[in-house]
Amino acid sequence: MINVGVIGVGMIGQDHIRRLSQVLSGARVAAVSDVDSDRARSVAAGLPGGGAGAGAGAGVAVHDTGEALIADPAVDAVLVTSWGPTHEAYVLAAIDAGKPVFCEKPLASTQEACSRIVDAEVATGRRLVQVGFMRRYDAQYRAMKEVVAGGSIGAPLLMHAAHRNPSVPPHFTSDMIINDSAVHDIDVARWMFDEEIASVTVFKPRQNRKAAPGLNDPLLLLLRMTSGVLVDVEASLNASFGYDIRGEVVCEDGTVELSESAGAVVKRTGGYGARVPADWRERFARAFDTEFQEWLDTITAGLEPTGPSCWDGYAATVTCDTGLAALRSGASEPVVLRDRPDLYKTAATS
Ligand code: NAP
Repeated sequence: MINVGVIGVGMIGQDHIRRLSQVLSGARVAAVSDVDSDRARSVAAGLPGGGAGAGAGAGVAVHDTGEALIADPAVDAVLVTSWGPTHEAYVLAAIDAGKPVFCEKPLASTQEACSRIVDAEVATGRRLVQVGFMRRYDAQYRAMKEVVAGGSIGAPLLMHAAHRNPSVPPHFTSDMIINDSAVHDIDVARWMFDEEIASVTVFKPRQNRKAAPGLNDPLLLLLRMTSGVLVDVEASLNASFGYDIRGEVVCEDGTVELSESAGAVVKRTGGYGARVPADWRERFARAFDTEFQEWLDTITAGLEPTGPSCWDGYAATVTCDTGLAALRSGASEPVVLRDRPDLYKTAATS
């Protein structure tokens, strides 16, 4: 049984706590921490054994800081689900403590911070960190990658992707379309083709009338992979009708695409239809479950994590920064990465 400490018990932190304590096997939530200590106490009180004070053996400890949680000997592994700019300090502290750490995306909010994490992990000589790019665990994406990698329909030439969100809050900015939404498509492209993104161009189509003033919604990103494969990503944040994720890879001798994610198709007079997922939690619920179960199984076996690495987190952040530069310049901008350390050289992307 792995005792997990959770730093940041907001929306996704609470969803992962539910997953760890009610859906998956082999883990229990042993400690929580949040800048809002009332929220941390209330989340702990709702868990089996909750309500105990910091350091308590059998209960759920509530720590004042993430650093105290990481230092707690009762915590075997750390889950970081706090606000992005806080990730660096917690991931570095977990590496320093020699504890496996699962960090929700982004690994860190600047490429310099990601690079510092890469250096710290490389210095330990082993992988301790996994980054939360859950699409790699989605059954449909995995099936698509298997076909592409198997080569049965020839070499890949193009990928068409769409990321359609029903709506976003008024504070959502054009930069967030790249950093918070398209970042998942950026990770998928690197993982799907096992290669880096060489350059990014960003186009601004006609603005959706529902977009807040100043929000460039939708955006169209064009990612050129190092092999020359081109990936276009439509990011629509006010699609209204639901959460719709599309993907199609065009190869020399055929195509492979994601199927509809809804369960049952209903046919009635004059037409047929099915449910569109309401949001990312519904669309990727099983992917999140698989992502965490595989992470738990790996660390329970005393092995290094095999999922998205610090390098993947670093490359995603650099590519997003390049996308922001392309959004402002209107030109194709090159993605400039540091040399990949040997620790991450087992595959072009881990
Ligand atoms: P959220 O609801 O705002 O939750 C973040 C929580 O962390 C809040 O309770 C926040 O408290 C707390 N927090 C802020 N600073 C902290 C600190 N220094 N120490 C401990 N706790 C702190 O945000 P969220 O939507 O859950 O997102 C959390 C992370 O998950 C983000 O990095 C986000 O990008 C990522 N995420 C990933 C996915 C995915 O698809 N993989 C989806 C959603 C979110 P306050 O509210 O008081 O600030």
